[in-house]
Amino acid sequence: MKLNFIVPKSEKADFYQSKFDYYRTLSFYSAILTVLMQTTYFVTDCQIFGRFATETLIPRFSVLVPMLILIIINPKIKSYRVGAVLYYLFPHIAMWATIWTIWYLPNRDFAREGFIIMHFAFLAVGMGMPLVYHVIAHGLLFANIIVSNLWIHYETFDMMITLAAPLFVGCVLMLLFNHKTYLDHYRVVKKIEKDALTDQLTGAFNRNILTEIFDENYHTLKPQFSTSKHVITLMMDLDKFKEVNDTYGHEAGDHILQLLSDTLKQNVKDTDYVIRWGGEEFVVFLMGYTYEEGAQIAEQIRSQIATTDTGVCPITVSIGMSLYKGEDYHKTIRKADRALYYAKAHGRNQVIRAEELEND
Ligand code: GH3
Ligand code: MG
Ligand code: MG
Repeated sequence: MKLNFIVPKSEKADFYQSKFDYYRTLSFYSAILTVLMQTTYFVTDCQIFGRFATETLIPRFSVLVPMLILIIINPKIKSYRVGAVLYYLFPHIAMWATIWTIWYLPNRDFAREGFIIMHFAFLAVGMGMPLVYHVIAHGLLFANIIVSNLWIHYETFDMMITLAAPLFVGCVLMLLFNHKTYLDHYRVVKKIEKDALTDQLTGAFNRNILTEIFDENYHTLKPQFSTSKHVITLMMDLDKFKEVNDTYGHEAGDHILQLLSDTLKQNVKDTDYVIRWGGEEFVVFLMGYTYEEGAQIAEQIRSQIATTDTGVCPITVSIGMSLYKGEDYHKTIRKADRALYYAKAHGRNQVIRAEELEND
């Protein structure tokens, strides 16, 4: 069995966010259940006292206040970093409440069992967390015991530590394997996502990417892409490409398609979208440019293609450009397509702006 636990640095934030999102329900309910479980131990307090344990009522039930706060703010927690701090706080809150309670108890022997149970709370919360965070958060359990021993003086302090140490190591090992299992899952999902969104020949996106950019119901740009500048659509089509295939063969044609795709990617930012629309047609969404910048990029692409040594034959591309005005994206595509058609009909190897045609 090959064990590869390492997540590349560039993927770390995405991986941990994905793991957190996947397990967050478990982590959240584990945090809540931990403090609720702690309140049920009020019954054991009464058993120890042999009467209603008035003294431990407030220490035991004080945890309900932070629990309610967590329930209220939980929907607002998005980042795994914030989630980790808040969810891990709860096994600690449960421990602090237990320590506060123990202060009043005539018999402190049961603290040992109480602290052992807390390891399982840390384990459950830790499922969706980065392992390093877990080692720190779970490791602080020892600090709780050691510090509280300074004034509580547990009779079984040594036993508490020797029982806790292997449990801690065991939990960390289990979470290490869970990390590996989730990493396998993450890689498979990423690969499937990439394959579903990418054109195999050119490495450009295929049309499935549209569901990532545009709202499925209204076909308008998703809010996260809104920009103070413009979204510009370039629709392009290789000129007389059928002749290239017919003269030099399909493989040579494929090579030119790859070259075009590479040229497009070189001329745009990582946040833009290069999509193989079909056959030898590509659509580029430029996200956040002025109209003139968009036109400049289109012209740059056209001239670069026209002067590239393809190793096959000279090739040119016609480009239709349109401004996306927040409407159904089909409209900006239609406008760009009309401009492209105009470019084809008027000599090819040129950029035509849909807005200029509208003014005709
Ligand atoms: P125009 O300037 O009017 O666009 O002329 P054209 O010859 O490029 O237009 P047409 O639509 O008639 O031809 C498109 C050609 O693109 C036809 C087809 O052989 C070629 N093509 C489409 N997909 C691929 C592909 O994946 N690989 C290769 N090699 N050729 C392709
Ligand atoms: Mg075509
Ligand atoms: Mg063509």
